[in-house]
Amino acid sequence: MNDNKNIVDLIPKKIKSLYPPMIAPNLNGKRYAVFSSVKYIEIPEYITIEDVRSRWSPLTYHKKTEEWVIRSSSSNTYHRVNLINGKFICDCMGYKYNGNCKHIDKVKSDITKPNKNIMSFKDRYIKEQTDISLKIFDVLKKMYPEVPKFPLIFKNLRGRMGGYITTTHRRGSKKHTIHNIVIDNSGLYCFDMDYCVCHEFAHAILINKNGNKTHNKTHVNLTYMLAKKFNLA
Ligand SMILES: [Zn+2]
Ligand SMILES: [Zn+2]
Repeated sequence: MNDNKNIVDLIPKKIKSLYPPMIAPNLNGKRYAVFSSVKYIEIPEYITIEDVRSRWSPLTYHKKTEEWVIRSSSSNTYHRVNLINGKFICDCMGYKYNGNCKHIDKVKSDITKPNKNIMSFKDRYIKEQTDISLKIFDVLKKMYPEVPKFPLIFKNLRGRMGGYITTTHRRGSKKHTIHNIVIDNSGLYCFDMDYCVCHEFAHAILINKNGNKTHNKTHVNLTYMLAKKFNLA
């Protein structure tokens, strides 16, 4: 690798990811900046974690638009309150004339109350990611019918996401049994659940094919290909 290269040469465009990037110090003898389980960029020794973080653009959970449906107190109708780029708007007449209304007040009080019934951003994010991950997992199983069936398990979904694949290897045999893919808060290289599923499923495909469990180039390329299929890369 050319030692004159600075971080902007290596990572010209800032990379979006949910969690800050890390450095994987020794993957098959190489050093990588890791932005998500599919974005590995080889970096020389003199590049620091601060350099890598300067090329990071944080991805937020917040959707541009959120919507609540509030029952009208006076009639059997419903009003829609939307949060658009930080501003509440409602479809009722009160809002139209006053720029505020009781429906918006209701949403505001609901979302600031402790023990509210409305899911927090984090909970909603976890729910969305779990649903997406299960869908991706189903599609992958159909794409690779030769991979023996095993479950996708979620646990301890608080904190930094990661994933791993559990297998056993029979002595004196090339055969591996894949038990499951686990998504939890223990991972090192995968941060988003949907990426994790692609990363771990790529392991499953290669383990089934030739017993290889490493992060070699084939695995990196396969993960990238799968993630691309689901618009994650
Ligand atoms: Zn209203
Ligand atoms: Zn892995």
